Amino acid sequence: MYSIGNRVEWLQGPGANCAKTGPVAPRPWHLVLLGPPGVGKGTQAEKIIGEFGACHLSTGDVFRYAARDTSGQAPSPAMATALAAMKRGELVSDNTVVELVRERAGCLACQYGFLLDGFPRTLEQAHALNGILASVERKLDAAINYFAPEPLIIERLSGRRVCKQCRTGYHVANKPPRVAGRCDACGGELFQRDDDKPEAIRTRLQAYAATCNPVLEYYRRQGLLREIEASGDPEAVFAHTRAVIEKLDPVARR
Ligand SMILES: [Zn+2]
Repeated sequence: MYSIGNRVEWLQGPGANCAKTGPVAPRPWHLVLLGPPGVGKGTQAEKIIGEFGACHLSTGDVFRYAARDTSGQAPSPAMATALAAMKRGELVSDNTVVELVRERAGCLACQYGFLLDGFPRTLEQAHALNGILASVERKLDAAINYFAPEPLIIERLSGRRVCKQCRTGYHVANKPPRVAGRCDACGGELFQRDDDKPEAIRTRLQAYAATCNPVLEYYRRQGLLREIEASGDPEAVFAHTRAVIEKLDPVARR
């Protein structure tokens, strides 16, 4: 079982000192993780890291870290641009996201390998990643895409509930409160966020597919795409994932 490390170099940006220690896998894996919201990617990411020892490089984590960073460190140049855009209520541009990753290219060359999560999200980003990897003399082993039928994803995501008072999250099937509609922690009323209503989820999935399908096609043409059905329970999905990764490089099998 490998540990996740603090990923400070990835989260804070270039110049931070990555203090990851612990055993290095027999082979560093260079993987991209793809899949729509609600497909269970986060759970699979944790399992892949534990089993194959790659660093979990999530662009979502970079943004979350920047939002609550209290270290007093100035944000990296690309993060400063991203934060300014968010402050104006704008989306962070494709180009800025690419620059965020480019600043952190050292993480892609790390001896622990990487599992890239949340990037690339568009075809432009996929092209850019290719260039960034070439600049650090690394190659992708595979892009792993998880998929599940839309009704299943909608069922999973629309079961989410949030406490009005303390914002604790619940799920009607997977993490139900002790008393229906009431928060275990504070007794507050639980509600369904507009984002988690079926119609909104359907819209999100359509938007995701529109930008992601060209990325899938791009990796398919390069022979790097591996597709994994993620409707089953997380253990079964991971068994499939493990087999897929081991097949990429039989020599590295332990
Ligand atoms: Zn509460």
